[in-house]
Amino acid sequence: MSDEQCSELVYHHSRCSRKATVFVNGVGYCKWHSPDATAKREAASERKYKLESLAHDIKWRTRELGNLALLLYKQDMVSASQMRKECDAIIALEEERKKLEGEG
Ligand SMILES: [Zn+2]
Repeated sequence: MSDEQCSELVYHHSRCSRKATVFVNGVGYCKWHSPDATAKREAASERKYKLESLAHDIKWRTRELGNLALLLYKQDMVSASQMRKECDAIIALEEERKKLEGEG
């Protein structure tokens, strides 16, 4: 047992007040600030951001596709290849999101 304090700097460069329980290369950290716990939190936060960003892109592109379809329909010039390209892009995003959600 050690009474060492966590080495992590928190607000205004003061040190975290929790007791160090994890030691990496001689540096002590509390459970919350250990490099492993920090990496896990960062990965979870990155994943959450990516999921939100994918959901946003899917929504936006689907709306754009709707606008384009309406415009082309009004002009009586619906292009199948353009539609296919737009739909494929949205489907690819949806699959990326499903995959990422499945990993959680
Ligand atoms: Zn700490």
